[in-house]
Amino acid sequence: MIDRLLPGHASCPGCAVALAVRYVLQGLPDRAVLVVPPSCIAVLMGPLPLSSTTLPVLQTAFETAAAAAAGLARAYRALGEDVTVVCLAGDGGTYDIGLQALSGAAERDEDFLYVCFDNEAYQNTGNQKSSATPWGARTTSTPRGKTTRKKEIVEILAAHRIPYAATASPAYRDDLLAKVRRALGLHGTRFLNVTCPCVPGWGIGEDASLRVGRLGVESRAVPLYEVEDGTRYRITHRPAGIPVGDYLRAQSRYAHLTADQVAAIQAEVERRWEDLVERCERVNGPAAVDRAEARVPAS
Ligand code: SF4
Repeated sequence: MIDRLLPGHASCPGCAVALAVRYVLQGLPDRAVLVVPPSCIAVLMGPLPLSSTTLPVLQTAFETAAAAAAGLARAYRALGEDVTVVCLAGDGGTYDIGLQALSGAAERDEDFLYVCFDNEAYQNTGNQKSSATPWGARTTSTPRGKTTRKKEIVEILAAHRIPYAATASPAYRDDLLAKVRRALGLHGTRFLNVTCPCVPGWGIGEDASLRVGRLGVESRAVPLYEVEDGTRYRITHRPAGIPVGDYLRAQSRYAHLTADQVAAIQAEVERRWEDLVERCERVNGPAAVDRAEARVPAS
């Protein structure tokens, strides 16, 4: 596997976004171009004339990553060149500021892979809340905890009936790489949301990103699943079902929560999980979740 992320980049020590970007780049073909709006990924890629990757990078405005990717993909097709176009964006540029361009591109089924590295806030500008920030999480703009829910971005993209939408985690590398490969084998707009613990924003240690990522998945707060054509749901890793409090207590952004608030989050996690299982079983039958566990083992 070719490593296309070079050492010496500007991410924080222990950054899960850097690791997730590294894995995604490993899954790409040699002829790929990257489109990057403002985000921790833009910082990671480096300012001109420096670059942290061996692939070409087009840095865009916040609003325009999906529009730029659509234009690039069409231009390469017109030239008869087989080039894979991949957006690497943060949650601010995806859930909030870039959503209009992304929705338009998805509606037109433009031919690119869009990967959102979701660290659940505007982390490279100092941890302001985004619509990816979960309820209760403290950020610099929600010092008493966010009072609204996290936006369901995969459901929004799936509702466009794009060929492929999925969640992933850098703590489950094989699952992430399998999804990159699956997406690259399809045409049209394909979307991955990779949840990435952030050292300063989540209030975790430099050595804790993968452990916290696993707690998120195993508590079912961050379920790993994929959706084909907006209808065929599959859970790709069966979580252990540990208490969500184990995940929350590992992060200082949740340190202010009361026991009742943790219980409310647990209830919401269970409601969302049951809803996801129901969607899977509707298409694949009652054994779908167990079969998924056998197909894609955790890393
Ligand atoms: S702020 Fe968070 S996501 Fe951004 S580079 Fe640092 S650890 Fe990574």
